[in-house]
Parts: sequence; structure tokens; C-alpha cells
Amino acid sequence: MLSVVVDQPNRLVLRELPLPEPGPGELRVRVRYAGICGSDLHIFHGQNPFVSYPRVIGHEFFGRVESVGPGVDEARIGERVAVDPVIACGQCQPCRLGRRNVCRKLSVLGVHRDGGFSQYVCAPAANAYRIPAAIAEACASIIEPFAVTANVTARTGVLGDDVALVYGAGPVGLNLLQVLKKVYGLRCFITDHLDERLALARRCGAAEDEIINTGREELGAALAARGVDGGPTLIYDAVGHPSILEEAVRLAAPAGRIGLLGFSSTPSAIPQQELTKKELTLAASRLNSAMFPTVIDWFERGLVQPEAIITHKLDFRDVAGAFDIAERQPRYSCKVLLDFGSDE
Ligand code: MN
Repeated sequence: MLSVVVDQPNRLVLRELPLPEPGPGELRVRVRYAGICGSDLHIFHGQNPFVSYPRVIGHEFFGRVESVGPGVDEARIGERVAVDPVIACGQCQPCRLGRRNVCRKLSVLGVHRDGGFSQYVCAPAANAYRIPAAIAEACASIIEPFAVTANVTARTGVLGDDVALVYGAGPVGLNLLQVLKKVYGLRCFITDHLDERLALARRCGAAEDEIINTGREELGAALAARGVDGGPTLIYDAVGHPSILEEAVRLAAPAGRIGLLGFSSTPSAIPQQELTKKELTLAASRLNSAMFPTVIDWFERGLVQPEAIITHKLDFRDVAGAFDIAERQPRYSCKVLLDFGSDE
């Protein structure tokens, strides 16, 4: 089988690897589509502290069950599946709390073990979720980034009268926008420096006055001009620059919640006084904890439009070109998929 391997930082190769055998409780998936995530780019550039090299990367993918290991029902062969990359022990304290995404023995497909940028991949059968026929293959490959969204909204909680602010109209920010507006029916502002990304936000459901180009407008003034009295009650940082948390803490309404998804190692300077004065809640969120069923339900009911963020589908053999588009052309690309073809 052909796989996309990061051999060492900044070296991405296409390599013929032996077909992996599914172990007990595992199954093997013939990958159809896989999504490129910012974290794949970080692994590529040696900026992910958890990864070991060489690694078959990729943690957003959809395919068909092609074989099963011992103890897995053979009836699953042929099933269309999306695979949750989060593999947890189920025994440790975070797992017992339902926080399997921060399991003490956490193993993530495409990070700690070989992932989905490959014609075939093995995964625990329990991580492979059956996809209803109504959900298109390309959409099913990006359940994972929506699961990230489901996780952070579960961490902050969402109230009916929240006014939301999302920093960054990249794939995660746009997914958050869709979920906050279409699943929860909130007013939701979204920022970016690129007009092209804000135009994409419009296509993802933002109203004309909900998009804010922070290259041109000062955010606090922009929100006030749009009638936001007392600041947003719910803020998400889908950018991860340390200055954003500092600003979010200043802007948030009393009793506000701030959802954090970034992985920057640079400290933010936050006065404790701002947090306690307004009794803010900072809710950090990593990956997702068993959110695939929630997202599959959203997709099946048509509550969100995953296809709205998919801008490119490239043959996986052109992975270098696909990475280049995802990384260097943010004006013209959003979610870039690798197409692994079909045997049928
Ligand atoms: Mn991802």
C-alpha cells in the first residue's frame, strides 16, 4: 500500500509500506478521503511535541471496512466508516470521568501511531463509526474537525441567549460558526484578516454584520457598533495566538466563557483581576471525547453543511501540492482533502 510518511521534520514522502494486519479488536479501513489539518502541517514542520518519526500522518478520514481482526464481527466488512483518532485506555481517572481525549495513555492516530494518509489503516473497531448512506464520502472525512467543535462547545456550554465571538475563519472557526448559528441558533461574530475567509464565513451562514475584518476594524469598537452591549458571553479562540486570549479576557461579558483550542507554547499575559472581576471561565479543549455520534447526527439531519468548507480535493500522490495549497494559499483554500481513490 502507498502511504504518506513524514520521515523527519520537513521531509514528506510517499512510500510503499506493507499492508498492516488488524490486531484483536481492530479493523482495517480502505481510506477514501482524508482531510489535511493544521496539526498535520505542524507535524510536518516538527512543531508537534507528541509525535515520533517516521509517522504515517492523518487523523481525519473516511473509508470502508476491508478486513477485521480477531473478535470483530465480520458483518462489518464493507461498512462505510469515519474513524475517531482518539484511542483511550478506558480505565484511568480522566477516562472514568468521560474525558477520554486526555487519557493518561492517550494514543492518537496519525500522531502517536500510524494514521489515515494511507490507502489502508488499522484502528480499534470501537473507533470506527458507521456512516449513514445520506452522508457523502467527502463530508464524512471531516467529521473529526466538527467533533473538535462539538467538544469545545460541550466544554463551555451553550446558552440560548449567548452572544458568541469566534476568532479566526479557518476550518475550525468556520465549523464553530456553523454549529453556533445552525445547531444552537445564536448570534455569532467571526473575525479574520482575510476578506476571502470572511466571504467563506458568509457562505457558512454568517450575516453581513457578523463578519469582522480585524485588519481594518478594532474588535471592541466593531462589536459595540454592532450593538453588542457588555461584550460577548461566549468566545472561542480558533487561532491560538497568545495575544488573543488577552483580548478575549478584556472583551468578555461578566460570567462569560472562553473556549481555547490553540497549542501555542508562548505565554499570554492575563491579569487575574480581569478573570475574577467578571468571574470568567476558561475552558480548554483537546481533540474530542466521543463526539462522533453527535456530529453524525448533525450531518444526517442537515443542521450543518460540511461541504461549505471543502475547497480542494487532490489525488493523494500529490500530497506535497496539497500541503502547499493548505499552507500557503489561505485566501483560496480552506479544507483540503486527499483523494485515495476507490477500488470499486
Ligand atoms: Mn484535525
